[in-house]
Amino acid sequence: MTDAATTESTVPWLDHYRSTMMGTVTDPMALLVRGEGCYVWDGDGRRFLDFLAGIAVNALGHAHPVLVDAVSRQIATLAHVSNYFATPQQVELADRLRRLSGAGEDGRVFFCNSGTEAIEAAFKLARRNGRDGARPRILSLQHSFHGRTMGALSLTGQPPLQEPFVPLVPGVEHIDSTIEALEAAIGPDVAALFLEPIKGEAGVVELPEGYLTAARELTTKHGVLLILDEIQTGIGRTGTWFAFQQFGIVPDAIALAKGVAGGVPIGALVTFGAASGLLQAGHHGSTFGGNPLAAAAGNAVLGEIESAGLVENAARRGEQLRSVIAGIGHPLIAEVRGRGLLIGIGLAQPIAKALAAAAFARGLIINAPNPTSIRIAPPLIIGDGELVEFSRIFIESLEDVS
Ligand SMILES: *Cc1c(COP(=O)(O)O)cnc(C)c1O
Repeated sequence: MTDAATTESTVPWLDHYRSTMMGTVTDPMALLVRGEGCYVWDGDGRRFLDFLAGIAVNALGHAHPVLVDAVSRQIATLAHVSNYFATPQQVELADRLRRLSGAGEDGRVFFCNSGTEAIEAAFKLARRNGRDGARPRILSLQHSFHGRTMGALSLTGQPPLQEPFVPLVPGVEHIDSTIEALEAAIGPDVAALFLEPIKGEAGVVELPEGYLTAARELTTKHGVLLILDEIQTGIGRTGTWFAFQQFGIVPDAIALAKGVAGGVPIGALVTFGAASGLLQAGHHGSTFGGNPLAAAAGNAVLGEIESAGLVENAARRGEQLRSVIAGIGHPLIAEVRGRGLLIGIGLAQPIAKALAAAAFARGLIINAPNPTSIRIAPPLIIGDGELVEFSRIFIESLEDVS
Protein backbone atom coordinates (compact mmCIF):
# COMPACT_ATOMS: atom_id res chain seq x y z
CA MET A 1 0.00 0.00 0.00
CA THR A 2 1.19 3.46 -0.83
CA ASP A 3 1.00 5.98 1.96
CA ALA A 4 -0.52 9.02 0.28
CA ALA A 5 0.72 11.33 3.03
CA THR A 6 4.39 10.47 2.59
CA THR A 7 4.85 9.43 -1.05
CA GLU A 8 5.92 12.13 -3.47
CA SER A 9 4.22 12.00 -6.82
CA THR A 10 5.95 13.34 -9.91
CA VAL A 11 2.91 13.83 -12.13
CA PRO A 12 0.31 16.53 -11.61
CA TRP A 13 -2.74 14.35 -12.35
CA LEU A 14 -1.71 12.01 -9.55
CA ASP A 15 -1.66 14.83 -6.99
CA HIS A 16 -5.09 15.89 -8.13
CA TYR A 17 -6.32 12.29 -8.06
CA ARG A 18 -5.08 11.80 -4.50
CA SER A 19 -6.64 15.00 -3.28
CA THR A 20 -10.02 14.14 -4.80
CA MET A 21 -10.49 10.36 -4.83
CA MET A 22 -11.05 8.31 -1.68
CA GLY A 23 -7.87 6.34 -1.05
CA THR A 24 -9.37 2.86 -1.42
CA VAL A 25 -6.90 1.66 -4.05
CA THR A 26 -3.15 2.04 -4.59
CA ASP A 27 -2.02 4.81 -6.93
CA PRO A 28 -3.17 4.30 -10.54
CA MET A 29 -0.45 3.64 -13.15
CA ALA A 30 -1.55 6.26 -15.65
CA LEU A 31 -4.29 8.66 -16.62
CA LEU A 32 -5.95 7.08 -19.65
CA VAL A 33 -7.95 9.14 -22.10
CA ARG A 34 -8.72 6.96 -25.12
CA GLY A 35 -8.85 3.39 -26.42
CA GLU A 36 -9.15 1.61 -29.74
CA GLY A 37 -8.97 -2.13 -30.37
CA CYS A 38 -6.33 -3.65 -28.11
CA TYR A 39 -4.68 -0.29 -27.32
CA VAL A 40 -5.21 2.56 -24.84
CA TRP A 41 -3.56 5.99 -24.76
CA ASP A 42 -2.60 8.20 -21.84
CA GLY A 43 -2.90 11.98 -21.58
CA ASP A 44 0.59 12.46 -23.04
CA GLY A 45 -0.26 10.41 -26.14
CA ARG A 46 1.65 7.32 -25.04
CA ARG A 47 0.18 4.09 -26.43
CA PHE A 48 -0.15 0.83 -24.47
CA LEU A 49 -0.96 -2.68 -25.64
CA ASP A 50 -3.73 -3.67 -23.23
CA PHE A 51 -3.27 -7.28 -22.09
CA LEU A 52 -5.46 -6.79 -19.03
CA ALA A 53 -8.62 -5.44 -20.75
CA GLY A 54 -9.95 -3.73 -17.63
CA ILE A 55 -9.50 -7.03 -15.74
CA ALA A 56 -11.16 -9.35 -18.27
CA VAL A 57 -13.91 -6.84 -19.03
CA ASN A 58 -13.22 -5.33 -22.48
CA ALA A 59 -13.97 -8.55 -24.37
CA LEU A 60 -14.23 -6.69 -27.70
CA GLY A 61 -11.34 -4.39 -26.90
CA HIS A 62 -11.87 -0.62 -26.81
CA ALA A 63 -14.38 1.44 -28.78
CA HIS A 64 -15.56 -1.55 -30.82
CA PRO A 65 -17.95 -0.19 -33.49
CA VAL A 66 -20.63 -2.82 -32.77
CA LEU A 67 -20.76 -1.87 -29.08
CA VAL A 68 -20.49 1.86 -29.78
CA ASP A 69 -23.36 1.66 -32.22
CA ALA A 70 -25.63 -0.44 -29.96
CA VAL A 71 -25.09 1.80 -26.92
CA SER A 72 -25.44 5.02 -28.93
CA ARG A 73 -28.71 3.90 -30.47
CA GLN A 74 -30.13 2.57 -27.20
CA ILE A 75 -29.32 5.67 -25.14
CA ALA A 76 -30.99 7.77 -27.81
CA THR A 77 -34.08 5.52 -27.62
CA LEU A 78 -34.64 4.32 -24.03
CA ALA A 79 -31.94 4.10 -21.37
CA HIS A 80 -33.75 3.17 -18.18
CA VAL A 81 -37.24 2.26 -16.99
CA SER A 82 -37.00 0.45 -13.53
CA ASN A 83 -38.26 -3.03 -12.75
CA TYR A 84 -41.87 -1.88 -12.89
CA PHE A 85 -41.48 -2.31 -16.64
CA ALA A 86 -39.94 -4.89 -18.96
CA THR A 87 -37.90 -4.14 -22.08
CA PRO A 88 -37.14 -6.30 -25.13
CA GLN A 89 -33.40 -5.84 -24.60
CA GLN A 90 -33.52 -7.29 -21.08
CA VAL A 91 -35.53 -10.38 -22.09
CA GLU A 92 -33.33 -10.94 -25.15
CA LEU A 93 -30.17 -10.84 -23.05
CA ALA A 94 -31.66 -13.27 -20.51
CA ASP A 95 -32.55 -15.64 -23.35
CA ARG A 96 -29.03 -15.43 -24.78
CA LEU A 97 -27.47 -16.23 -21.41
CA ARG A 98 -29.84 -19.17 -20.88
CA ARG A 99 -28.99 -20.54 -24.32
CA LEU A 100 -25.21 -20.04 -24.11
CA SER A 101 -24.96 -21.46 -20.58
CA GLY A 102 -27.17 -24.44 -21.33
CA ALA A 103 -29.58 -23.42 -18.56
CA GLY A 104 -32.28 -23.47 -21.24
CA GLU A 105 -36.02 -23.37 -20.59
CA ASP A 106 -35.67 -24.13 -16.88
CA GLY A 107 -33.06 -21.41 -16.40
CA ARG A 108 -33.82 -17.97 -14.99
CA VAL A 109 -31.76 -14.77 -15.00
CA PHE A 110 -31.47 -11.96 -12.44
CA PHE A 111 -29.71 -8.78 -13.59
CA CYS A 112 -27.68 -6.41 -11.45
CA ASN A 113 -24.75 -4.06 -12.07
CA SER A 114 -21.53 -5.74 -10.96
CA GLY A 115 -19.88 -8.98 -9.95
CA THR A 116 -20.23 -8.43 -6.25
CA GLU A 117 -23.97 -7.85 -6.73
CA ALA A 118 -24.31 -11.09 -8.70
CA ILE A 119 -22.67 -12.84 -5.74
CA GLU A 120 -25.03 -11.08 -3.29
CA ALA A 121 -27.97 -12.42 -5.30
CA ALA A 122 -26.37 -15.89 -5.17
CA PHE A 123 -25.91 -15.51 -1.39
CA LYS A 124 -29.66 -14.88 -1.04
CA LEU A 125 -30.34 -17.87 -3.31
CA ALA A 126 -28.22 -19.96 -0.95
CA ARG A 127 -30.12 -18.74 2.11
CA ARG A 128 -33.39 -19.84 0.46
CA ASN A 129 -32.03 -23.38 0.12
CA GLY A 130 -33.07 -24.52 3.59
CA ARG A 131 -35.74 -21.95 4.35
CA ASP A 132 -36.46 -23.48 7.75
CA GLY A 133 -32.96 -22.57 8.90
CA ALA A 134 -31.84 -26.18 8.60
CA ARG A 135 -28.92 -25.20 6.34
CA PRO A 136 -27.11 -22.38 8.14
CA ARG A 137 -23.65 -23.17 6.68
CA ILE A 138 -22.14 -21.99 3.40
CA LEU A 139 -18.82 -23.31 2.08
CA SER A 140 -16.28 -21.31 0.13
CA LEU A 141 -12.59 -21.78 -0.66
CA GLN A 142 -9.48 -20.31 0.91
CA HIS A 143 -7.72 -17.80 -1.40
CA SER A 144 -10.99 -17.25 -3.30
CA PHE A 145 -12.26 -13.85 -4.40
CA HIS A 146 -15.98 -13.12 -4.70
CA GLY A 147 -16.25 -9.33 -4.33
CA ARG A 148 -16.15 -6.45 -1.87
CA THR A 149 -19.67 -5.91 -0.50
CA MET A 150 -20.31 -7.49 2.89
CA GLY A 151 -21.90 -10.75 1.73
CA ALA A 152 -19.40 -11.26 -1.08
CA LEU A 153 -16.53 -10.24 1.22
CA SER A 154 -17.71 -12.84 3.74
CA LEU A 155 -17.41 -15.47 0.97
CA THR A 156 -13.96 -14.20 -0.10
CA GLY A 157 -11.28 -16.43 1.41
CA GLN A 158 -8.76 -13.68 2.08
CA PRO A 159 -8.44 -12.67 5.75
CA PRO A 160 -6.47 -9.45 5.02
CA LEU A 161 -9.42 -8.14 2.96
CA GLN A 162 -11.94 -9.21 5.60
CA GLU A 163 -10.30 -8.22 8.87
CA PRO A 164 -10.92 -4.44 8.66
CA PHE A 165 -14.66 -5.11 8.33
CA VAL A 166 -15.58 -7.66 10.98
CA PRO A 167 -18.13 -8.80 11.98
CA LEU A 168 -18.84 -10.50 8.66
CA VAL A 169 -22.05 -12.17 7.50
CA PRO A 170 -22.32 -15.35 9.60
CA GLY A 171 -22.37 -18.94 8.40
CA VAL A 172 -19.51 -18.92 5.85
CA GLU A 173 -16.64 -21.39 6.24
CA HIS A 174 -13.49 -21.36 4.10
CA ILE A 175 -12.04 -24.74 3.27
CA ASP A 176 -8.90 -25.99 1.52
CA SER A 177 -9.23 -26.55 -2.23
CA THR A 178 -9.04 -30.34 -1.92
CA ILE A 179 -11.69 -33.01 -2.42
CA GLU A 180 -10.84 -34.38 1.03
CA ALA A 181 -11.52 -31.02 2.70
CA LEU A 182 -14.85 -30.77 0.88
CA GLU A 183 -15.84 -34.33 1.86
CA ALA A 184 -15.04 -33.52 5.48
CA ALA A 185 -16.97 -30.24 5.55
CA ILE A 186 -20.07 -30.93 3.49
CA GLY A 187 -23.30 -32.22 5.01
CA PRO A 188 -27.08 -31.76 5.15
CA ASP A 189 -26.68 -28.50 7.11
CA VAL A 190 -24.84 -26.80 4.20
CA ALA A 191 -26.86 -24.53 1.89
CA ALA A 192 -24.33 -23.88 -0.85
CA LEU A 193 -20.77 -24.33 -2.07
CA PHE A 194 -19.28 -21.28 -3.82
CA LEU A 195 -16.40 -21.90 -6.26
CA GLU A 196 -14.39 -20.09 -8.89
CA PRO A 197 -13.63 -22.68 -11.63
CA ILE A 198 -10.25 -20.93 -11.91
CA LYS A 199 -9.17 -18.55 -9.15
CA GLY A 200 -8.40 -15.37 -11.07
CA GLU A 201 -7.47 -12.93 -8.31
CA ALA A 202 -5.30 -15.61 -6.67
CA GLY A 203 -3.15 -15.54 -9.83
CA VAL A 204 -5.13 -17.76 -12.26
CA VAL A 205 -4.98 -20.96 -10.23
CA GLU A 206 -6.88 -24.09 -11.31
CA LEU A 207 -8.74 -26.42 -8.96
CA PRO A 208 -7.18 -29.87 -8.49
CA GLU A 209 -7.90 -32.53 -11.12
CA GLY A 210 -11.38 -34.00 -10.63
CA TYR A 211 -12.44 -31.36 -8.11
CA LEU A 212 -15.47 -29.96 -9.95
CA THR A 213 -16.81 -33.44 -10.71
CA ALA A 214 -16.45 -34.43 -7.06
CA ALA A 215 -17.99 -31.12 -5.96
CA ARG A 216 -21.01 -31.74 -8.20
CA GLU A 217 -21.45 -35.28 -6.85
CA LEU A 218 -21.11 -34.26 -3.21
CA THR A 219 -23.36 -31.20 -3.46
CA THR A 220 -26.08 -33.21 -5.24
CA LYS A 221 -25.86 -35.97 -2.63
CA HIS A 222 -26.35 -33.52 0.24
CA GLY A 223 -28.86 -31.17 -1.40
CA VAL A 224 -26.28 -28.37 -1.49
CA LEU A 225 -26.35 -25.72 -4.24
CA LEU A 226 -23.23 -25.63 -6.41
CA ILE A 227 -22.78 -21.94 -7.22
CA LEU A 228 -19.98 -21.05 -9.61
CA ASP A 229 -18.41 -17.61 -9.66
CA GLU A 230 -17.77 -17.22 -13.41
CA ILE A 231 -17.45 -13.46 -13.16
CA GLN A 232 -13.88 -13.57 -14.47
CA THR A 233 -13.90 -16.95 -16.28
CA GLY A 234 -17.20 -16.53 -18.15
CA ILE A 235 -18.14 -15.02 -21.52
CA GLY A 236 -15.64 -16.89 -23.66
CA ARG A 237 -12.62 -15.92 -21.61
CA THR A 238 -11.34 -19.47 -21.01
CA GLY A 239 -12.04 -20.78 -24.52
CA THR A 240 -15.61 -21.95 -23.92
CA TRP A 241 -18.60 -19.70 -23.16
CA PHE A 242 -18.29 -20.64 -19.50
CA ALA A 243 -15.42 -22.46 -17.81
CA PHE A 244 -17.69 -25.12 -16.25
CA GLN A 245 -18.48 -26.37 -19.76
CA GLN A 246 -14.95 -27.81 -19.92
CA PHE A 247 -15.54 -30.01 -16.88
CA GLY A 248 -18.68 -31.92 -17.90
CA ILE A 249 -20.80 -30.68 -15.00
CA VAL A 250 -23.95 -28.57 -14.66
CA PRO A 251 -24.02 -26.12 -11.73
CA ASP A 252 -27.12 -24.80 -9.90
CA ALA A 253 -26.17 -21.19 -10.59
CA ILE A 254 -23.46 -19.06 -12.16
CA ALA A 255 -22.58 -15.49 -11.22
CA LEU A 256 -21.53 -13.30 -14.15
CA ALA A 257 -20.31 -9.73 -14.74
CA LYS A 258 -17.02 -8.37 -16.19
CA GLY A 259 -17.13 -9.35 -19.88
CA VAL A 260 -20.92 -9.51 -20.29
CA ALA A 261 -21.37 -5.99 -21.68
CA GLY A 262 -17.77 -5.24 -22.67
CA GLY A 263 -17.31 -2.38 -20.19
CA VAL A 264 -20.85 -1.18 -19.55
CA PRO A 265 -21.62 -2.13 -15.92
CA ILE A 266 -23.78 -5.24 -15.64
CA GLY A 267 -23.97 -8.38 -13.53
CA ALA A 268 -26.17 -11.44 -13.74
CA LEU A 269 -27.10 -14.53 -11.79
CA VAL A 270 -28.19 -17.44 -14.00
CA THR A 271 -29.92 -20.35 -12.27
CA PHE A 272 -30.33 -23.90 -13.57
CA GLY A 273 -33.24 -26.27 -12.94
CA ALA A 274 -34.90 -26.31 -9.50
CA ALA A 275 -32.72 -23.45 -8.21
CA SER A 276 -34.66 -21.19 -10.58
CA GLY A 277 -37.65 -21.26 -8.22
CA LEU A 278 -35.87 -20.32 -5.00
CA LEU A 279 -36.12 -16.53 -5.20
CA GLN A 280 -39.69 -15.26 -5.30
CA ALA A 281 -41.43 -11.90 -5.81
CA GLY A 282 -40.15 -9.37 -3.31
CA HIS A 283 -37.01 -11.31 -2.41
CA HIS A 284 -34.53 -9.22 -4.36
CA GLY A 285 -34.25 -6.29 -6.72
CA SER A 286 -32.07 -3.64 -8.31
CA THR A 287 -33.09 -0.25 -9.67
CA PHE A 288 -30.56 -0.23 -12.52
CA GLY A 289 -30.33 -4.02 -12.94
CA GLY A 290 -30.89 -5.11 -16.54
CA ASN A 291 -31.83 -1.69 -17.79
CA PRO A 292 -32.17 -1.45 -21.58
CA LEU A 293 -28.88 0.44 -21.99
CA ALA A 294 -26.77 -2.20 -20.25
CA ALA A 295 -28.83 -5.02 -21.78
CA ALA A 296 -28.38 -3.63 -25.31
CA ALA A 297 -24.64 -3.49 -24.65
CA GLY A 298 -24.73 -7.11 -23.48
CA ASN A 299 -26.66 -8.23 -26.54
CA ALA A 300 -24.19 -6.46 -28.81
CA VAL A 301 -21.16 -7.99 -27.07
CA LEU A 302 -22.54 -11.54 -26.94
CA GLY A 303 -23.77 -11.28 -30.53
CA GLU A 304 -20.38 -10.10 -31.76
CA ILE A 305 -18.50 -12.78 -29.77
CA GLU A 306 -20.72 -15.37 -31.43
CA SER A 307 -20.65 -14.06 -34.99
CA ALA A 308 -16.93 -13.28 -35.00
CA GLY A 309 -15.99 -16.66 -33.46
CA LEU A 310 -14.24 -15.02 -30.50
CA VAL A 311 -14.72 -17.97 -28.12
CA GLU A 312 -12.75 -20.10 -30.58
CA ASN A 313 -10.24 -17.26 -30.97
CA ALA A 314 -9.79 -17.15 -27.17
CA ALA A 315 -9.08 -20.90 -27.12
CA ARG A 316 -6.65 -20.76 -30.05
CA ARG A 317 -4.84 -17.55 -29.11
CA GLY A 318 -4.63 -18.78 -25.53
CA GLU A 319 -2.84 -21.94 -26.64
CA GLN A 320 -0.48 -19.86 -28.77
CA LEU A 321 0.23 -17.39 -25.97
CA ARG A 322 0.94 -20.10 -23.42
CA SER A 323 3.37 -21.85 -25.74
CA VAL A 324 5.03 -18.52 -26.63
CA ILE A 325 5.49 -17.72 -22.92
CA ALA A 326 6.71 -21.20 -22.02
CA GLY A 327 8.99 -21.15 -25.09
CA ILE A 328 10.81 -18.03 -23.86
CA GLY A 329 12.55 -20.41 -21.46
CA HIS A 330 13.53 -17.60 -19.10
CA PRO A 331 14.68 -18.71 -15.63
CA LEU A 332 12.22 -16.27 -14.02
CA ILE A 333 9.25 -18.13 -15.57
CA ALA A 334 8.44 -21.08 -13.30
CA GLU A 335 5.09 -22.09 -14.81
CA VAL A 336 2.32 -21.02 -17.18
CA ARG A 337 -1.25 -21.54 -15.97
CA GLY A 338 -4.82 -20.95 -17.08
CA ARG A 339 -7.14 -21.62 -20.00
CA GLY A 340 -8.00 -19.64 -23.10
CA LEU A 341 -7.16 -15.97 -22.62
CA LEU A 342 -7.04 -16.07 -18.83
CA ILE A 343 -3.38 -16.81 -18.23
CA GLY A 344 -1.25 -16.86 -15.10
CA ILE A 345 2.53 -16.82 -15.18
CA GLY A 346 4.16 -18.20 -12.05
CA LEU A 347 7.47 -16.48 -11.33
CA ALA A 348 10.49 -18.03 -9.68
CA GLN A 349 11.05 -14.85 -7.65
CA PRO A 350 8.65 -12.35 -6.03
CA ILE A 351 9.19 -9.67 -8.68
CA ALA A 352 5.76 -9.55 -10.34
CA LYS A 353 5.18 -5.86 -9.51
CA ALA A 354 8.56 -4.84 -10.93
CA LEU A 355 7.96 -6.92 -14.06
CA ALA A 356 4.53 -5.37 -14.63
CA ALA A 357 6.06 -1.91 -14.13
CA ALA A 358 8.88 -2.68 -16.59
CA ALA A 359 6.35 -3.87 -19.17
CA PHE A 360 4.26 -0.77 -18.62
CA ALA A 361 7.29 1.47 -19.15
CA ARG A 362 7.73 -0.29 -22.51
CA GLY A 363 4.07 0.12 -23.50
CA LEU A 364 2.47 -3.16 -22.37
CA ILE A 365 -0.23 -3.53 -19.71
CA ILE A 366 -0.02 -6.76 -17.69
CA ASN A 367 -1.09 -7.33 -14.08
CA ALA A 368 0.57 -8.56 -10.88
CA PRO A 369 -2.21 -9.97 -8.64
CA ASN A 370 0.43 -11.18 -6.14
CA PRO A 371 4.25 -11.03 -5.82
CA THR A 372 4.90 -14.28 -7.74
CA SER A 373 2.13 -14.13 -10.37
CA ILE A 374 1.54 -12.23 -13.58
CA ARG A 375 -2.01 -12.31 -14.94
CA ILE A 376 -2.85 -11.56 -18.54
CA ALA A 377 -6.40 -11.30 -19.87
CA PRO A 378 -6.29 -9.53 -23.25
CA PRO A 379 -9.37 -8.65 -25.31
CA LEU A 380 -10.83 -11.74 -27.03
CA ILE A 381 -10.14 -10.09 -30.41
CA ILE A 382 -6.33 -10.35 -30.32
CA GLY A 383 -4.56 -11.56 -33.46
CA ASP A 384 -1.04 -12.31 -34.67
CA GLY A 385 0.13 -8.68 -34.47
CA GLU A 386 -0.76 -8.33 -30.79
CA LEU A 387 0.83 -11.68 -29.99
CA VAL A 388 4.13 -10.71 -31.61
CA GLU A 389 4.19 -7.31 -29.90
CA PHE A 390 3.35 -8.83 -26.51
CA SER A 391 6.08 -11.42 -26.87
CA ARG A 392 8.74 -8.82 -27.82
CA ILE A 393 7.92 -6.43 -24.97
CA PHE A 394 7.50 -9.22 -22.42
CA ILE A 395 10.94 -10.66 -23.23
CA GLU A 396 12.52 -7.18 -22.98
CA SER A 397 10.76 -6.62 -19.67
CA LEU A 398 12.05 -9.93 -18.27
CA GLU A 399 15.57 -8.76 -19.17
CA ASP A 400 14.90 -5.41 -17.43
CA VAL A 401 14.19 -7.12 -14.10
CA SER A 402 16.78 -9.92 -14.37
C1 LIG B 1 -14.13 -9.19 -10.36
C2 LIG B 1 -14.64 -10.35 -9.58
C3 LIG B 1 -15.66 -10.21 -8.63
C4 LIG B 1 -16.25 -8.87 -8.24
O1 LIG B 1 -16.80 -8.21 -9.32
P1 LIG B 1 -17.03 -6.61 -9.22
O2 LIG B 1 -17.70 -6.27 -10.51
O3 LIG B 1 -15.69 -5.98 -9.04
O4 LIG B 1 -17.91 -6.38 -8.05
C5 LIG B 1 -16.10 -11.36 -8.00
N1 LIG B 1 -15.60 -12.57 -8.30
C6 LIG B 1 -14.63 -12.74 -9.21
C7 LIG B 1 -14.11 -14.11 -9.50
C8 LIG B 1 -14.11 -11.63 -9.87
O5 LIG B 1 -13.13 -11.80 -10.76
